[in-house]
Amino acid sequence: MSAIDEVLKANEAYAAQFVWGELPSPPARKLSVLVCMDARLSVSRILGLKPGDAHIIRNAGGIVTDDVLRSVLISHHLLGTQELMIIEHTDCGMLTFTDDDLLERLRQKAGTAVVAPARFFAFRDLEANVREQIEKVRSHPWIPAHFVVRGFIYDVKTGRLREVSA
Ligand code: ZN
Repeated sequence: MSAIDEVLKANEAYAAQFVWGELPSPPARKLSVLVCMDARLSVSRILGLKPGDAHIIRNAGGIVTDDVLRSVLISHHLLGTQELMIIEHTDCGMLTFTDDDLLERLRQKAGTAVVAPARFFAFRDLEANVREQIEKVRSHPWIPAHFVVRGFIYDVKTGRLREVSA
């Protein structure tokens, strides 16, 4: 059985017990979370979130890209979130390569160049990278000053979050 077939089976059990059909769309906790896609990070468990509590935005690294800004702007302006948590983590795969190396490796493997992605946003310094993502959101002209943006590092060995001072 493929992984997709396996999870479809799990979904049947989930749907049979489903009780969340009346939840409103705006997140109850007025919270957005940007987090790395790493499979070890089970965001709802790490943060004690229930369905309907928060927007969870994920990508490789937990990077504030153009598309993440799109989601954050919709989350705040249309769906009322007031706080954004940015969560990166120890042992992140994004610390293990450089953009130039990966772009070149894939170019050679495929035998062709591409226009997108122009960048993978690999990084060397976890804390500095978290600060950079916070700054990208805070400095956006459509993000109001009262919108709270805080950054954290999740330790994959302990399950603990540590705040990165801005
Ligand atoms: Zn990661």
